[in-house]
Amino acid sequence: MKLERSIELYTKGKRNLVGSVNSPVRAFKSVGGVPIFIEKAKGSKIYDVDGNEYIDFVLSYGPMILGHRNSKVERAVEKALKKGYTFGASTEAEIKMAKLVCEAFPGMDKVRFVSSGTEAVFSAIRLARAFTGKNKIIKFSGCYHGHSDALLVAAGSGLATLSIPGSAGVPDEAVKNTLIAEYNNIDSVENHLANNNDIAAVIIEPIAGNMGVVQPTSEFIQELRDLTKASGVLLIVDEVMTGFRSKFGGAQELLGIEADITCLGKVVGGGFPVGAYGARNEIMEMVAPLGNMYQAGTLSGNPIAMACGIATLKELKKQNPYDKFEKTAAFLERELLAAAKEYGIDLQVNRFGSMINPFFTKEKVVDFKSAQTSNTEQFKTFFWKMMEHGVFLPPSQFEAWFLGTAMTKRDIYKVRSAIKIAMKAVAE
Ligand code: PLP
Repeated sequence: MKLERSIELYTKGKRNLVGSVNSPVRAFKSVGGVPIFIEKAKGSKIYDVDGNEYIDFVLSYGPMILGHRNSKVERAVEKALKKGYTFGASTEAEIKMAKLVCEAFPGMDKVRFVSSGTEAVFSAIRLARAFTGKNKIIKFSGCYHGHSDALLVAAGSGLATLSIPGSAGVPDEAVKNTLIAEYNNIDSVENHLANNNDIAAVIIEPIAGNMGVVQPTSEFIQELRDLTKASGVLLIVDEVMTGFRSKFGGAQELLGIEADITCLGKVVGGGFPVGAYGARNEIMEMVAPLGNMYQAGTLSGNPIAMACGIATLKELKKQNPYDKFEKTAAFLERELLAAAKEYGIDLQVNRFGSMINPFFTKEKVVDFKSAQTSNTEQFKTFFWKMMEHGVFLPPSQFEAWFLGTAMTKRDIYKVRSAIKIAMKAVAE
């Protein structure tokens, strides 16, 4: 596999960029080797600077659900670009986008656009505290909600990959109001609620994707909804990864629950920096300028990003790819398990909607602890073989693979062949 140009750029980049990347998971630390540098992408394919072509299962960690450079989206972005980049005043596009988002999530009367998932989540937490007058939040071990101080505790994603328990630079005071519960374990939530009357909210990834894919049991998620409601604690559903991806109405539509506050990111911006948080009127009316919970942003509701988001959501709604995603993910699961069986490798496959993840372990993966039983050395071998055979996967055992609408049957058959070769390499 030719990687000379990537190696050259990686070396050059290290001079002025931290680790030659702008986000740690891109550094390929847990799989070793040098991170690839990208030249361009189109449809289901992504091309690196050495001319290698890959079927893209990273999809920029989720946003590119329609594949790269969808023609309708591109036309909308080009049209918006010609009108100006940012104005510091409102545009009609923000209203159109807000309507599309609120219609998708029944629990959302109003929404506020921001520029990232991190921003959406930390704003939602401030809002929950403002609304309830309470301070503490409960988060689940292995769930990642962006890199704000209060949430960098027992987080997944890059932290799981690098085995860092938290982060340097986060003061004790910033995390003293963050309580940790275990995914799929309602008792761990009940214990906190029983012992503390200062809890504003519980935040959850409704389908976890940052410890690898871990789905909630239907009892757990329903009990969590009932318990929070009965305790007067807000349920913040972090749909940054799952919003418009699990279903058009996110994981909430798939799981049949309704959040008090919903956080969005990734797909909602179609590849431009957009995040959002929304809730029923009673809660959103706390936010400035209507209320006294302050939150603002120079580039919030940016017109180019809104144009991209609107075109992406409209196209997604029209294509309604969710049944097809389910079938493709089921096919991949069967192929992964069959190949693992053939070569005597312990493997679990977790999938939900268009997110799928093989774990190299005997143990059923239901939470962060069981996810961490995975053999990351085996994943490393698997990852590089898949790359060699033209499949770009997230370079970590603990990141979800994302399906996109631009993937063809031919692509998926190519992936099947790569899986067989990669599993064989793991066994050798
Ligand atoms: N919440 C979840 C569930 C995420 O998966 C992520 C990012 O991966 C975030 C929040 C943070 O979003 P961003 O990286 O856009 O700040």
